[in-house]
Amino acid sequence: MKITILRDVCIGCGVCADLSPGVFEMDGENIAVVNRDPGPEEVDSVREAAESCPVDAIDIGE
Ligand code: SF4
Repeated sequence: MKITILRDVCIGCGVCADLSPGVFEMDGENIAVVNRDPGPEEVDSVREAAESCPVDAIDIGE
C-alpha cells in the first residue's frame, strides 16, 4: 500500500491521525504526514481515513 498525502490540499483537521494513529501523524506545520507503512491490521483504518478526509488529500495506491 502506497500512501500519499497532498500537502497543499490537507487542511490539518487531524481526522486521519485520529482514525489511524501510528500511520498518520501531524507535523510541526499541522499537516498530515505518513509516519510508517501500515501493518496488515491497519489497512482498513487507513482506507477509512482516506475516505473520511474532508478534502480528499489522501491518495492510496495498492
Ligand atoms: S484527514 Fe485529510 S485534511 Fe485532515 S489532516 Fe488528514 S490529510 Fe489532512
